[in-house]
Amino acid sequence: MKKISKFLITKRIFILALLGGAVYLASSYLNISIWYIILFGIFTGVIFGKVFCRWMCPIGFMMEMIMGGGNKSQFSSMYQYHKLGCPIAWASGLLNKWSLFRIKINTDTCISCGKCDKECYISSLEPAKFSLYRPEKKKSGDSYSCSKCLKCVAACPNGSLKYKI
Ligand code: SF4
Ligand code: SF4
Repeated sequence: MKKISKFLITKRIFILALLGGAVYLASSYLNISIWYIILFGIFTGVIFGKVFCRWMCPIGFMMEMIMGGGNKSQFSSMYQYHKLGCPIAWASGLLNKWSLFRIKINTDTCISCGKCDKECYISSLEPAKFSLYRPEKKKSGDSYSCSKCLKCVAACPNGSLKYKI
């Protein structure tokens, strides 16, 4: 199970291309109203938080191709993008705090290596405010801008971070 979830996280961009393409085709060729897509995006927010942008959105796919998510300036661009977003991002971003699935830490096994924070654009760009493992800071995974890329989960060497109910 751990291997499957890590595999899915590392292949996220391909999943985004596939699902984003399906959303695009559904709205363009099957004439599915944009309102149904917005409602669907918000529904996914209730269950999973802000997953639509980086797992299913055709515009998100294009933005990611342009901005990437590696070095500091790309981190910065992604952060700004996820702060702005669209109606789906606004609603699902606010739901990050209350969604059924959320990023949780097992403090008994965490070795405070900080690898999760290094992978996350929120913790990287605002280290004084956000962290995935420091209890005195706000949780990056619950913040409005967390786009559930789950890089933090994949980076944790001992499975202390989990995305679960
Ligand atoms: S899923 Fe993790 S790494 Fe990605 S933005 Fe959210 S807290 Fe940061
Ligand atoms: S990567 Fe895992 S072990 Fe390291 S600080 Fe983050 S939660 Fe703790």
